[in-house]
Amino acid sequence: MKIKKKYKSINTYRVKQILKTIFENMNFTREDIIRKTGINSFQVYSIVANLLKRKIIVESQKGISSDIRIGRRSKFLSINPNMGYVIGVSIGHNDILETGLFDFALNTLESKSITIENMDFYEIVEKLIRQIKSMIKSIDKRKVYGIGIARPGITVVDRTITDGNEPYVFDWENPEVIEKLKTLLDDVFHLPIYIEPKNNVAVFGEYWNLKQKGYNNIVYLDIGNGVGAGIMIDGKIVIGGKDIRGDIGHMIISSDTGRLCVCGNRGCLGALVCIPSIISQIKESMEQGVITTLNSTELNFDQIIKKFDEKDKIVINVLSNVSRYIATGIINIVNLFSPEIVIIGGRIKDLGNQFEYMIKQDVDKLSWVGNKKGIPEIKFSQMNDNLIKGAGLLVLNNIFSDKSFLLSETDKTISKIMDNEKEIVKT
Ligand SMILES: [Zn+2]
Repeated sequence: MKIKKKYKSINTYRVKQILKTIFENMNFTREDIIRKTGINSFQVYSIVANLLKRKIIVESQKGISSDIRIGRRSKFLSINPNMGYVIGVSIGHNDILETGLFDFALNTLESKSITIENMDFYEIVEKLIRQIKSMIKSIDKRKVYGIGIARPGITVVDRTITDGNEPYVFDWENPEVIEKLKTLLDDVFHLPIYIEPKNNVAVFGEYWNLKQKGYNNIVYLDIGNGVGAGIMIDGKIVIGGKDIRGDIGHMIISSDTGRLCVCGNRGCLGALVCIPSIISQIKESMEQGVITTLNSTELNFDQIIKKFDEKDKIVINVLSNVSRYIATGIINIVNLFSPEIVIIGGRIKDLGNQFEYMIKQDVDKLSWVGNKKGIPEIKFSQMNDNLIKGAGLLVLNNIFSDKSFLLSETDKTISKIMDNEKEIVKT
């Protein structure tokens, strides 16, 4: 019988599918991959062996940050953290610029933050370039696979205070601005650059943090100088047909009697619960002569946090209302999206456990028999780096989860695997 060698490449698609599954699921074994992907066990075992040989993935008895131990024969698989680096950036609203360097398991290797108060676009980009350069100067630059950026919306810098000029208004949502930012960074670093609205990036960071719990439906509510949200359903960020920016701050909670919002409507969630609004509400109560230990001349949020702990009457009253408004917003979100968890981040979380508890109680009061069982876990964010981590994750996601393996080194390695995975089919 004549034996003819015929090479047949194992489907590139299968390798990508397996890598994607390992990336997206912590503590997965070969058996879990077979179950999840439906790829036959022979192929899974053979591809996994090859990925291990090439150190693209690693295996361990103990999964990543997990105490679960399994049988001697099955081991947990994960992406090799040392395969490369990604950079995550967060550009704040006229406050801070933060940059982080992460490995492929999103462990923070270094992070830096500087203030960008009163800086314009070009000054910020210049600072950013300098920050990234200093961060990667001592590592192998070929192993840096991309830059993810969490960008703000519209930034308004009031220069009337500093130099007497008109306020500087900058629209980070303008596609030309996003392109310009990409070009300026690309000219220096020649790396893939991914830029997303900050709340979408934050929900991504929180998702990674909660990965072990397996949540795929997460709402992140940011309450600070404004109110915004990032919404993840089935593991995907909700963008919508017209690029929703999580403008939950303009969800109308109390249209008749509510406070006037910057958008011109009354009773928007943002106008009722953002930090500047909390400060004005407290000031208004003080003007009505309620007895308080607050000092009106230097009223700021730090003082409010302190007085909340000391149970100052005005602070408690105002924050009780604020809690109810936030709970109303949450109930509206629950009725629409039914998330597994609502995470509240931003400056508001500095009010601590007691305020978190008040919100939970109010959500409970507002729920009814129909949605009671659908009430999600409500939690203040445990992360201080959800933006830079989420931004790093944007890059990793593009390597492992998206359609393209366009990054040179990974791509080369993947093609190598392909070449080595040729099956000799005897005919
Ligand atoms: Zn509004």
